[in-house]
Amino acid sequence: MYDGNYRAALDLKLEVIEQARDMLAASAASVEVESDHWIGGADDQSEDYCYDCASDAVARQTVESQPGAELFVDGGWRSTSDAPKACVCCGVRLNYAPTEYCTDEEIGHFLDYWNDDISPGEALDLVNIFDAVDTNPLEHQDWYQKDRLADAVRRVEEAFILAERVISAVVFCTSQTTP
Ligand SMILES: [Zn+2]
Repeated sequence: MYDGNYRAALDLKLEVIEQARDMLAASAASVEVESDHWIGGADDQSEDYCYDCASDAVARQTVESQPGAELFVDGGWRSTSDAPKACVCCGVRLNYAPTEYCTDEEIGHFLDYWNDDISPGEALDLVNIFDAVDTNPLEHQDWYQKDRLADAVRRVEEAFILAERVISAVVFCTSQTTP
């Protein structure tokens, strides 16, 4: 299905993705990220909090719950998400593992609204995307379902387009600041 030439071309694209990821790593690492929590016993447990804001909401009982329900701080581990997460109270970024849906949505979003001026928050989102791309889809073709393999390969192709934009943006910015 995917011949040796295709495999070699895909390997080169994966190297470009890795290169773009490395260029963004320092900027992404400058963003404060907390672990993801939610309020156990609350009516709406889909709202994400940092630990401090979750503890505060529990202490102040500011979250709606069924009569008699005990509120408690839940979570604290890296959970999968269909979208990047931030604390609903203070806005701090929360650690999450992007689903394949999330990765596709984020790649599409960045390609549609591309801007060469990459903020640290965007660098973090981009690093999460690049980390979520299967770096070896063709090696996995025996255990991937056929359509999942096609999806994984398409994801590499799209992430590669994004990686090229990252590299040209970063190189352009560097050439602007260092005469
Ligand atoms: Zn918070």
